[in-house]
Amino acid sequence: MNKILADYDINELLGLLCGQPKYIAKQILSFCARGADIDGMTSLPKKLRDELKLEFFEKPLYKAEIFNSKDGSAKFLFKLNDGNLIESVFLPNNYGNTVCVSSQVGCRMGCAFCASGMDGLARNLSAGEMLSQVALINSHFGGSLKERAVSNIVMMGSGEPLDNYDNTLKFVNLISSPDGLNVSERNISVSTSGLCDGIVKLAESGHNVTLSISLHAPNDDIRKQIMPIAKRYTVKEVVGSAKYYFEKTGRRVIFEYSLIKGVNDSLECAKELSELLKGFPLHVNLINLNPVKDAGLKPSGKDRAGLFLAELEKKNVSATFRRSLGSDIEGACGQLKRKYLKEVSHDH
Ligand code: SF4
Repeated sequence: MNKILADYDINELLGLLCGQPKYIAKQILSFCARGADIDGMTSLPKKLRDELKLEFFEKPLYKAEIFNSKDGSAKFLFKLNDGNLIESVFLPNNYGNTVCVSSQVGCRMGCAFCASGMDGLARNLSAGEMLSQVALINSHFGGSLKERAVSNIVMMGSGEPLDNYDNTLKFVNLISSPDGLNVSERNISVSTSGLCDGIVKLAESGHNVTLSISLHAPNDDIRKQIMPIAKRYTVKEVVGSAKYYFEKTGRRVIFEYSLIKGVNDSLECAKELSELLKGFPLHVNLINLNPVKDAGLKPSGKDRAGLFLAELEKKNVSATFRRSLGSDIEGACGQLKRKYLKEVSHDH
């Protein structure tokens, strides 16, 4: 079976190319970080490129469709070599542009408000498949390795990054490599639905990425209604592992909280949440739920969301509303792929 060249780090490349000088391995790393296919690695000897093509796919993934939003954001639908589809999103910001990366094809966490988890997990993405999402989007917007169009990475596309722990960590290593895109770990955010074991492992890994936890509820009863993972870890355990992450890394943890009408948006919920989170540096991102067709959950109204935020502020919990981009191009992760697959299957 063919392999993916972008999965290889410098040491693995040196092993693969046995006898070749180190600068060749470095060139391959930088080509992969630019999203080049093997034929496009023109500074490598033709013989080497031909040998690589016998063992490796030309490219880890291909742009299938791009949907540009009026607000400047863009969704990319990528086709993998096995025909699977994944999504990535480009989000412009005044502090720098962000790419939202997928870490798995589908997801097995089954959160009720998410389109990505509706069909379960198909497979993990490799580190090179994650890297290539960023590489292709960076070059699509005219970025190079020196002058990147992408400065920040959030792992909030389809998939649970900590359910694909080794590849996620390898992706962090590859994308922060000085021979590649050289993105600082401080500008990389790993988002989890709250896999406590994975959080503890990440805290002890020596890495320094931002940890973002999808909490979405102030107690176990509500969390169990919308996130099956709540049956495995209690909210107290999730918050405990977040504290541990802060103690180990000194990084403020981000909690994501989607406001869902009538489910988790009451004033009591806001009070319970501030009680739960007090005592260590963190930030709460309130998000207006992106309604997923078929899921039956609705976003909170503006008034209710305003009251919720005011209650957190009153209790000195740092919180903001996260601006929702791309609503005209099928907002939340997984929606675009579902729409595309439906359209394609309607065509046939
Ligand atoms: S929200 Fe994240 S963890 Fe939950 S099903 Fe969707 S992709 Fe998976």
